[in-house]
Amino acid sequence: MKTLYTIWIFLFGLIFGSFLNVVIYRLQQGLSIVFPGSSCPACKKPIRFYDNIPLLSYILLKGRCRQCGSSISWRYPFVEGLTALCLSALFFKYGLSFQFLNYGILVLFLIPISFIDIDKGLILNKLTIPCFILGVGLVLGFQFETWENSLFGAVGGGGIVWLMGFMGKMLFRKESLGFGDVKLLVTIGVYVGFPEVAICLFLGICIAGIFIFGGLILKKLSFGNTIPFGPFIALGTLVYLIWGPSLVNWYMGLY
Ligand SMILES: [Zn+2]
Repeated sequence: MKTLYTIWIFLFGLIFGSFLNVVIYRLQQGLSIVFPGSSCPACKKPIRFYDNIPLLSYILLKGRCRQCGSSISWRYPFVEGLTALCLSALFFKYGLSFQFLNYGILVLFLIPISFIDIDKGLILNKLTIPCFILGVGLVLGFQFETWENSLFGAVGGGGIVWLMGFMGKMLFRKESLGFGDVKLLVTIGVYVGFPEVAICLFLGICIAGIFIFGGLILKKLSFGNTIPFGPFIALGTLVYLIWGPSLVNWYMGLY
């Protein structure tokens, strides 16, 4: 039965992912998210509903616009698939619960925040602020974790990143972490509490470290490149939400 529900969540996830593509594209252009309907970025012609089916349309159209034939970025189906996978994984882990609702909402914000950070190097208030407010509402409304824990998460998460940025500035004499990263950690802290937020951040730093190390070895990166940190924080959070408790147990088992 759970498998059947997971498939449903996956299909809903694809639809959410399709909407997140719109959010990622339009927030960067300063356009309205709800109006008008989707159009091809190249020829501007409206995309017909039957050409707008997540994943499937991309495959059927072989990644090209039906009307002008220009290629559609692989990122559209990627974001759709990623959103669907994340929500299914959370559902598989938490079932139909407040935790699933809470973490699901957080992930639905983390995805556009990450992709806009990759594109623009900015973490938009237009996403972090609504995410923060919703998180506070969820904690106060459903109380599946205490508001104190949530508050510690927000202050702790934001505080640690602020301190890291401050020390980075002292050491390297340049801005290494932006205020956007601080706001992002405050927001994640509201959803996951303390010390979970610190674990999410730690995992994010580890993933970033592996990425930078790999990039330097493969010569895809050089010293002096600026790398958006938001996507790594988001990845660390995702890893924690899906594998977290077992990961912590495994780590503790090492001693
Ligand atoms: Zn077109």
